[in-house]
Amino acid sequence: MTSMPRTDTDVYHNTSQPLSSDLSHANTMALSCTANEVVTVTDEAQLDKFMSTADDTVFVLSGGSNVLLPARLNITVLRPLMRGITVLDQTLEHIDIEVMAGENWHDLVVYTVAQGWYGLENLALIPGLTGAAPVQNIGAYGVQLEDTLHSLKAYHIPTKTWHQLSPSDCQFGYRDSIFKHAPNTWLITRVTFRLHLDENRVLASYGDVKSIAQEHAKQQGRLGLTPSDVMHAIIDIRSQKLPDPKQLPNCGSYFQNPIISQAQFLALQTTYPDIKGYPLPEARVKVAAGWLIEQAGLKGSGVAPIMTHIHQALVLTNHAPFTATQSDVALAQAHIISSVYDKFAITLNREPVWVNMDGSIGQDSYV
Ligand SMILES: Cc1cc2nc3c(=O)[nH]c(=O)nc-3n(C[C@H](O)[C@H](O)[C@H](O)COP(=O)(O)OP(=O)(O)OC[C@H]3O[C@@H](n4cnc5c(N)ncnc54)[C@H](O)[C@@H]3O)c2cc1C
Repeated sequence: MTSMPRTDTDVYHNTSQPLSSDLSHANTMALSCTANEVVTVTDEAQLDKFMSTADDTVFVLSGGSNVLLPARLNITVLRPLMRGITVLDQTLEHIDIEVMAGENWHDLVVYTVAQGWYGLENLALIPGLTGAAPVQNIGAYGVQLEDTLHSLKAYHIPTKTWHQLSPSDCQFGYRDSIFKHAPNTWLITRVTFRLHLDENRVLASYGDVKSIAQEHAKQQGRLGLTPSDVMHAIIDIRSQKLPDPKQLPNCGSYFQNPIISQAQFLALQTTYPDIKGYPLPEARVKVAAGWLIEQAGLKGSGVAPIMTHIHQALVLTNHAPFTATQSDVALAQAHIISSVYDKFAITLNREPVWVNMDGSIGQDSYV
């Protein structure tokens, strides 16, 4: 088993520090949060041992980049920080690697590309840990986690049993999986990926990726594109587009791109010829949420201290790190949702996970 050296990619996950019950530094939105108790597990035996005496009400927290934590979390928080990467199988075409839940996702992407194992490069610079990646089937630049996921191992909290899940067991959808629908039920401890060994499998069709990747290849004195060029292009694009949570706390795209009927889209297009939409099957259209927020006059505004980003209206940022609370987010969220609805009659839905005081997931208690 290999373990990657820890880098400073994820300051919110520093295992060298004892974890206190203060989680304000353990979520990338930097919301003030204190939990009853925080328990770290670094191997599966520890998890078994802890769960044998614990009740089944725990909240699983990894890198904290997709959660909105309450000021007070009246529940035990379990942090699966097991490390390691193991090669399980290799053929001429592919390699199967098993990655423990606590490996930093971006470091894993960089590591696999450096080894000449391809398939994850489009998912570079997504924050968080590997065990959380299947939860919302992370996706970016035309690729989703399910494209390379081979299987995963997870602990079923209510029955205290271990399971091996196939991709179809995971019921993946767009930013969706069985784990999202059954929060605090599964704890993923290992993820197996089937990666490709063929350098020519390059997916650079999305937006500016190809031209920037070509520029990177040119600088290296090459003509053809490699997965490494694609990864570097995506790192460049994302670094320019998305605020770094370490500089300005945020939890990435705050709203999902809403899906509306083609009829509503065409009606809106007569008033707003610039409206951005992507046609979907069954006469539906996916509309860019960031564009809607911007057109509602909310780029760079919100309800202080929670503001949309000045360059990317889809991202809510926290201007009072470690002090602002979930209720501040609720106010800004309500303001944005109602402003967009008043202008376009479209309801925006939140993407990150809203955590209630009792550890349950879902409704906003403040709106
Ligand atoms: C700047 C920024 C950019 C982002 N870009 C993208 C993007 O391009 N695409 C994308 O899809 N997402 C993106 N995200 C969202 C986020 O990074 C991903 O959802 C990531 O996988 C969350 O990982 P995490 O370790 O931070 O999970 P956490 O936030 O800790 O947890 C998220 C959810 O998963 C559950 N969970 C965590 N670990 C486990 C586990 N081991 N087993 C079972 N359940 C678990 C938690 O209970 C919670 O419900 C972005 C976020 C930020 C801040």
